[in-house]
Amino acid sequence: MTIYNFAAGPATLPAAVLEEAQKDLVSLPGVGMSLLEISHRSKPVVELIDTAEQDIRKLAGIPDNYRILFLQGGASLQFSMVPMNLLRPGGKADHIVTGNFANLALQDAQKVGDIRVAGSTKDSNHDHIPSQNQLDLDPKADYVHFTGNNTIYGTEWPTEPDGGDVPLVADLSSNIFSKPIDVSKYGLIYAGAQKNLGAAGVTLVLVRDDLLERSPDSLPAMLNYRIHAKGNSAHNTPPVFSIYILGLVVKWLVQQGGLEHMENQNDDKAKLLYDELDSSEFFSGHAQPGHRSRMNVTFRLPSPELEAQFASEATAEGLVELKGHRSVGGIRASIYNAFPKEGVEALVSFMKEFERNHG
Ligand SMILES: *Cc1c(COP(=O)(O)O)cnc(C)c1O
Repeated sequence: MTIYNFAAGPATLPAAVLEEAQKDLVSLPGVGMSLLEISHRSKPVVELIDTAEQDIRKLAGIPDNYRILFLQGGASLQFSMVPMNLLRPGGKADHIVTGNFANLALQDAQKVGDIRVAGSTKDSNHDHIPSQNQLDLDPKADYVHFTGNNTIYGTEWPTEPDGGDVPLVADLSSNIFSKPIDVSKYGLIYAGAQKNLGAAGVTLVLVRDDLLERSPDSLPAMLNYRIHAKGNSAHNTPPVFSIYILGLVVKWLVQQGGLEHMENQNDDKAKLLYDELDSSEFFSGHAQPGHRSRMNVTFRLPSPELEAQFASEATAEGLVELKGHRSVGGIRASIYNAFPKEGVEALVSFMKEFERNHG
């Protein structure tokens, strides 16, 4: 039986990437040793990190005045590293709170400095993205932080908020490289790799050069972007294997046809599910149309009992990990870049059949 893995993260990886990693695990071609056992200062590893960087730069058209960093601590460490590095002495920043991770980012940032909520969708259970005129942005803020895709609630910013001259900082953990991106609109972007980019253990950070000047010397080295940039992401031992997998995924994205192709694919896949939700009285989507995530499709059935039954019958048919996050319940289908269209089609047929039997 084919298993389709709808997990929210770690999530489905391209089969070709897993096969290549398996084939080369014991002996990296041209090296004769495993990537897992060679020095991070060795030529093959230095080249591997360089190549991953160059490939990312090409894939997403990242301007030369941005640094690409491979860090550890997950996206979650960025919740506090961002304010530690980007707040100026006595400075302040704005956060837009559109979901669970946005809220966690706010809480950690507030432990570091003066952070204000410039917009929140909490009162409507995070079922939409605020419009520009609903934001109360401080033009004197050191940066404004938002979460590009809300993994748990299933909403996504259709375009970035306009921060004016204030640098935009975005957590794009669950939608990075799922569509073309104009990086020049951002000051800093971060994303844990385990959703759209690869395996857990590495966090991609893109940061504009001039912002590196803000990192205070008083910060411990591992928390300082400028030190990681100076060391080419190898100030200490980097997560070499996770960077390797990320590099393979980026090559795979290029082979697929790049970010425009991924956008078309992702739009098509998501549309199949949203059309099903819109044509049914039995299933109801959580996110408001126009604010829907193309990565995480969240919906409810008429009762928690039916939702539990739906998830368990789906599992029996090889459609696994559909249960919604414990904080919101319901059903969530995560369909990132590497998730195949056939899996979405299989879920749609299963939904139709389930509705026929229980609707
Ligand atoms: C998964 C996720 C995180 C948490 O990532 P970790 O790497 O586990 O720290 C943060 N933000 C968003 C938007 C996520 O989807």
